[in-house]
Amino acid sequence: MTVELICVGTELLLGNTVNTNAAFLSEQCAMLGLSMYYQSVVGDNPGRLEGLLQAAKGRSDIIILSGGLGPTQDDLTKETAAAVMGKKLVEDSKAREGIQQFMAKRGREITENNWKQAMVPEGCKVLYNPNGTAPGIIIEDGDTCMVLLPGPPNELIPMFEEQVYPYLHNLQPEVICSRMVKLCGIGESAAETEILDLIEGQQNPTVAPYAKTGEVHLRITAKAESEDAAYALIGPMEEELQRRFGSLVYTDDPQVTLEMAIAKLLEGRQLTVTTAESCTGGLLAGRLINVPGISSYFKEGHITYSNEAKEKILGVSHDTLERYGAVSAQTAEEMAKGGARAAGADICVAITGIAGPEGGTEEKPVGLVYISCWCKGRILTQKNLYTGSRSKIREYSVASALTLLRQAILEEGNTQDSQ
Ligand code: AMP
Ligand code: MG
Repeated sequence: MTVELICVGTELLLGNTVNTNAAFLSEQCAMLGLSMYYQSVVGDNPGRLEGLLQAAKGRSDIIILSGGLGPTQDDLTKETAAAVMGKKLVEDSKAREGIQQFMAKRGREITENNWKQAMVPEGCKVLYNPNGTAPGIIIEDGDTCMVLLPGPPNELIPMFEEQVYPYLHNLQPEVICSRMVKLCGIGESAAETEILDLIEGQQNPTVAPYAKTGEVHLRITAKAESEDAAYALIGPMEEELQRRFGSLVYTDDPQVTLEMAIAKLLEGRQLTVTTAESCTGGLLAGRLINVPGISSYFKEGHITYSNEAKEKILGVSHDTLERYGAVSAQTAEEMAKGGARAAGADICVAITGIAGPEGGTEEKPVGLVYISCWCKGRILTQKNLYTGSRSKIREYSVASALTLLRQAILEEGNTQDSQ
C-alpha cells in the first residue's frame, strides 16, 4: 500500500516551525511497511490544499495530513478534506464533550470557535485527543483513506502511536523492523568492503552502512508479518556482523552512544578516567559528561591550550616542547601521563593537534592530531591526519580519542583476565 504525507501550515513554509512531524510520520510509515512516494508542505490556503488532496487521492491509498485542525479561521484542513471526500460536516457529541472537559480541567473559557473542533465529516472515525481540543479524524471512502492529525507534536505523536498505528497496521499487516549495529575504529569504505557479499546478495533482511563522525552504523532491516518474525530474520544477520567486526562493535542498541558504551566499560572494570586536551578544548570531556552517572569515573579534565599550561598543569617537560613541538607524539604522551598523575586517575586521554585554518606547515599540516591514552602505566599513541574545517577536525579528534580510550580499556581488561 502507498501512503502520502501532507503537512499543512504557513509557519512550516516560512521556516518558523521545523517540520518534525514529517520526520516522525515518515519513520512510522516505514516501520509499518507502507511505501511513501510523496510528501508535501502547503500553507493555510484551501485552494492549494484542495489541489494537493485531489492529486494525492489519484495516486496514493492512504493520505496522512498534519496540522490545520485548530479552532481559528486559518485552520481549514478538515473542511477541505471533507469537501474532497464528498462528506458533510456534522457535530460529534463525544468530541464536543471532550472539548468541554479539556477546557474545564484547565479552567479556560470556551469560545464560540472552539465548537468548530467538534464538527467532523459524517461517517468518519473520530480519534479522541486527551492532550488537546482538536480530535483527529479518519475518513474512508472507496479506495482512499485520509488520516487528519493535529499539528502540535505532543498531540500528534501519542494519537498516532495509540490510535493510528494499530489502524494502519490492520490495513497492511506487514511490519518493517530494524536494528543498528554501531562500529568504531573503522571507516565506512573499509566496513562496506567487509560486508560487500552480504550487501550484494541482500533481500530480506537488508544491510546498509551509514557514516557518522568517526563511527559507522550498520542498519539491518527486515520485513515480515509480525515484529517477532522480523527480528527472527534480523538475528542471524546481526550475529554474522558481530562475527566479522568483533570488538569494533560497541553496541546494537540505537539509544546507546559511544560515550555511554565507554562509561559502561569503566563501571565494569572500576576504572577512573581524565582528559588532557589542547586543540579540542574540552569537547572530549563534554562527550564523556553527556553520560548521566559518569561522575563516579570522571572527576576532572584538563584544558591545556598553551605550552605554559601543558608544562604547569600536566608537567610536560620544557625540553620536549622545545625539541618536538606541542603537536608531537612525545608531547601527547607526556600530556597523558601527566594528566593521569595530576588527577590521580587510572586513565588519561590526551589530544594535541592543529585544527587550523592557520598554523599548518609542510612538516606539520592542518589536521595533524596526536592522541595518546595512558592506562595504568601502558600507553597507546596514535597519529592522525584529518581534513575538513576546524570544527570537523576537532569532532574527528574527539571520536578517535573515544575509540582509543575504548581500546585501552578493553586491552586493560584482557591483561587483567590473563593475570
Ligand atoms: P495547527 O494544528 O496547524 O494549528 O498547528 C499548531 C502548532 O503545531 C503549530 O503552531 C506548530 O507549533 C505545531 N506544528 C504544526 N505542524 C507541525 C509540523 N509539521 N511539525 C512540527 N510542529 C508542527
Ligand atoms: Mg496551523
